Amino acid sequence: MALQPSNLRKALGTIIDPESGKDIVTAGMVKDIKTEGDAISIEIELIAADSPMQTRFTEQIEQAIRTTSQECQEHVGAIEVTFVADTRSANERVRDETNPLPNVKKIIAVGAGKGGVGKSTVATILAVGLARQGNKVGLLDGDIYGPSMPTMLGLQQEESQAEEGFLLPFKVHGIEAMTIGKLVEPDRALIWRGPRAHSAFNQLATQTKWGELDYLIVDLPPGTGDVPLSLAQLLPLSGAVIVCTPQVVAQDDARRAVRMFQQLGVPILGLVENMSYFVADDGKEYDIFGRGGGEQMASAMNLEYLGSIPIHPDMRIAADTGEPLKNWEINDTMSNAFDAVCNNLVSVAGNSTPDRPTLNVH
Ligand code: ADP
Repeated sequence: MALQPSNLRKALGTIIDPESGKDIVTAGMVKDIKTEGDAISIEIELIAADSPMQTRFTEQIEQAIRTTSQECQEHVGAIEVTFVADTRSANERVRDETNPLPNVKKIIAVGAGKGGVGKSTVATILAVGLARQGNKVGLLDGDIYGPSMPTMLGLQQEESQAEEGFLLPFKVHGIEAMTIGKLVEPDRALIWRGPRAHSAFNQLATQTKWGELDYLIVDLPPGTGDVPLSLAQLLPLSGAVIVCTPQVVAQDDARRAVRMFQQLGVPILGLVENMSYFVADDGKEYDIFGRGGGEQMASAMNLEYLGSIPIHPDMRIAADTGEPLKNWEINDTMSNAFDAVCNNLVSVAGNSTPDRPTLNVH
């Protein structure tokens, strides 16, 4: 008698896919199992069909089946392992799977091509601004290499708390927030790369006890490193917002960030230009870095332009003192700019459904 399919599945279930950390049966990679006499053929789906993982999987599968056949005292003849390519992008795959955060309606990543453009500031403005409009909002500081939320949200005196193995988010300024900066010494996170960064981000995102949320805003590290990839593989994103400054020299970096999200299958919800212009006390506007570069880039790349945020010293002070709501007290031009970006995001994100991926949203 040949090995039963249930025994074969059990054998294959001992093989771990290093990409997802799940066994290949749970990860849905076993597409077909056929037996003919004592010959067995197995079809496995891999992200890249020509991946060097093929050799490794073939060896592991043969080994697992032969071990099981000895245990069951069944003879096994030829074992053929074939591979097919899973052509879906990272985030499309996640959207087809179970959502690890079912309480959250929309998850929006905030990214930037490089540091210092005001990505964390914009993420905070979006989170607090959406909450001011009556939404339930969470803010996840995924910038694990340089978390700025402990300062920007004034969490220095707050104690981190856990309940039943879950981290409790900090409830501040009308939002729920979580940051790695309150869990480990900031200097330690700086050296994390690859699997450690993935696992730290994974824990932060999925082991925080978020309430029912309309929006979870995720502040990512700048650039195109490990964390955006982890995020795209982990959570079904509604899309990403890219923050840039007006200078032409900054645009190449922003373009790279846009391309990265598109490759991961994450829709680009739009671009925000930060430090766009300066509004003096008399209401006069000064273009410091050459306003409009972001809008031109959005139009050239066929992306939504979500708006411009002026540069103002009181924004820096609000960030340093951990009082994001003070941003709305600076002047009307500033608060109108914040609200416009939030409104535009709501209208674009409203058209973007996590289960129907598109590259551009128009
Ligand atoms: P990033 O996350 O891109 O590295 P941050 O949001 O941390 O950038 O901003 C870098 C610095 O610039 C911070 O001190 C922040 O307060 C300040 N900043 C950001 N945007 C503005 C702005 N529009 N006006 C004034 N200061 C700003």
